Amino acid sequence: MSEPRKLLKGSTGDWEVVVGLEVHAQVSSKAKLFSGASAEYGAGPNENVSLVDAAMPGMLPVINKFCVEQAIRTGLGLNAKINLWSRFDRKNYFYPDLPQGYQISQYKDPIVGEGEIEIEVESGETIPIGIERLHLEQDAGKSIHDLAPNESFVDLNRSGVALMEIVSKPDMRSAEEGAAYFSKIRTIVRHLGTCDGNMEEGSMRADVNVSVCPAGNYQKYRETGDFKYLGTRTETKNVNSIRFTRQVIDYEARRQIEILESGGTIDQETLLFDPATGETRTMRSKEDAHDYRYFPDPDLLPLEFSQEWVDEIKASLPELPDQKKHRFMEEYGLSAYDASVLAMHRAQAAYFEAVANGRDGKLAANWVTGELFGALNKADKEIGDSPISAGQLGSLIDLIKDGTISGKIAKDVFALMFDGEETGDPADIVEKRGLKQVTDTGAIEKVVDEIIAANPKQAEQVKEKPKTMGWFVGQVMQKTGGKANPQAVNEILRKKLGVE
Ligand code: MN
Repeated sequence: MSEPRKLLKGSTGDWEVVVGLEVHAQVSSKAKLFSGASAEYGAGPNENVSLVDAAMPGMLPVINKFCVEQAIRTGLGLNAKINLWSRFDRKNYFYPDLPQGYQISQYKDPIVGEGEIEIEVESGETIPIGIERLHLEQDAGKSIHDLAPNESFVDLNRSGVALMEIVSKPDMRSAEEGAAYFSKIRTIVRHLGTCDGNMEEGSMRADVNVSVCPAGNYQKYRETGDFKYLGTRTETKNVNSIRFTRQVIDYEARRQIEILESGGTIDQETLLFDPATGETRTMRSKEDAHDYRYFPDPDLLPLEFSQEWVDEIKASLPELPDQKKHRFMEEYGLSAYDASVLAMHRAQAAYFEAVANGRDGKLAANWVTGELFGALNKADKEIGDSPISAGQLGSLIDLIKDGTISGKIAKDVFALMFDGEETGDPADIVEKRGLKQVTDTGAIEKVVDEIIAANPKQAEQVKEKPKTMGWFVGQVMQKTGGKANPQAVNEILRKKLGVE
């Protein structure tokens, strides 16, 4: 996996793109990380602020056990090492929406260590992406500058809300991979119920690290572990959509290549993305860890728990998207791509399994990902609003399988059900509308004879150009309203036209 993927052409040579993401995911919990105030979204300004969140003198933080459990759950979902001993540190900086004057975070000893997940890209390839760590920390409040011309306001509702910062290794090599990773992280936390993944409400955002290096350097980094080969990176803060993530990586890669090729150097800086222009701009020059004067928070004991507790949590995990994907590949014989498309959303996976149960899995997958997803997409509907139930789609597939209808007629019946023109059992719809496939060879022969008699020239031609027999097949299908059994039609035509 270390050979160059997706090289970008420059005027001086080929470049490789290197991407790492720091995803901030808000823990799904009732209360904040160190106080009993509500963590719910959407309250009025400063309604969910305890004395701890407002950093009143003498207030002491108390760890929320449920948030710790959620972090462990997420770590397990990332196939990562759970550290039974970890510690909270103060990250010191001044900002009006940070009343403590520091953020309680984890620095040297995070609760979750290294892990690995899989991403799928459009080429069908599955790529492993390393997880560096996951740590727990508090969110800050929010400054509001646009309510009055000469005043600023602060809303501390978010102050103290639990965040998980999930840091990847620099293993992504293109905009597509960066977007696929972000999307996968969201899928995993949603399956686990540890974060709602709602980016519009700020429950999830990513800091996107991008650098470029001459082709071949990534391999050297792999061999030596030396980051110098990867080039200087920039960090674009708070990217809150998967599409923007893609745009940031594309834009930054090109911008950096241009600078380097014209003899410049990349500044290690922190950037903001402007969705209106699709460009990044400087926010501040990048600070280093030592600027924050990290030190262990003296108000909190180290976080210690037992392996038994971790095992208990592990036993309670639902089937995760990647496990489901691999099961779909094995059980139903699906391709990695189809399996991953179906496994990534719980409701879609459940629908597919209901259709595929006891049937040809591949055929079921084709109908669900092709016909159904296509129609839902067009109608701007979610799987939960599908006008066709899994039971109906399953019955429709049974009708194809037992030869009652052709695939083409099945599509017509599907459309009738999807548009609400027909409801109920597809078998009844087929019966009622007289759509049953004609397998009676005598009836088909009659139609074939008529068509040959009416088109002697074409019939003569077919003997020299057997491929033109398709035209006759089309004619027969048209005459029979698509109901003739295609196999029978082909056989009879071949015989009558003398095609080998
Ligand atoms: Mn952070």
